[in-house]
Formats: sequence, structure tokens, C-alpha cells
Amino acid sequence: MAGKWKCALCGGEIVEGQRFTFLSGLGAVHNECLIVSVLSKDLTRDMVALLDVNEVLLYAIIRFKEAEKAAETGEVKSVIAEIRRDIEKLAGRISNAITVVFKQAA
Ligand SMILES: [Zn+2]
Repeated sequence: MAGKWKCALCGGEIVEGQRFTFLSGLGAVHNECLIVSVLSKDLTRDMVALLDVNEVLLYAIIRFKEAEKAAETGEVKSVIAEIRRDIEKLAGRISNAITVVFKQAA
């Protein structure tokens, strides 16, 4: 993670290892803050489904970063990093969908 980000919902810092999501037009938000914010609105089944799959990918990204650090050879590190970037792209697609549903509920 480059630099430090603030959560657009609670104003707190987003620390390395914490799960966060980018919402377009809003910025980075803690995943916990997003869930709390959505709970205070009308939590649709669409949003529950999206948050669920988002959680899985965010968890995977953190695990991949840990595995990359743990791996011994540069070759294996770069394979893990490459796959992690693919997962980040997928997470980006889900956060776009979350942004759409989030704005509808706002
Ligand atoms: Zn927050």
C-alpha cells in the first residue's frame, strides 16, 4: 500500500493489513465501516451478497501479501504477486458493483 489513506466513513487511518474497499466518488473505506454504514440503511440482499464475496477477495489479498513475504525465492514471490494483482482487479470489479448499490441505498 502506497502512502496512508483515511477512511471516508470514519475518518480513521487505514492501516496495512486492514481490509478496505475503494468506492468511486467516496474513496477508501474500512470494510467494517462500510458494513456498519450499509446496516444503518436498507441492507439489500444484493449488498449482502456483494459484501460477502468482497470479503473473500480482500482476505485473499492479505493472505497473498503474507505469502509473498514468506516465500523464499524471487521467482515464487513474483508468481504470488502477479496472481495477487489479478485478485485485486477482481476486487475492483466488485467494489464498482458495491458503489452502485451503495449509492442506490443512500
Ligand atoms: Zn473507517
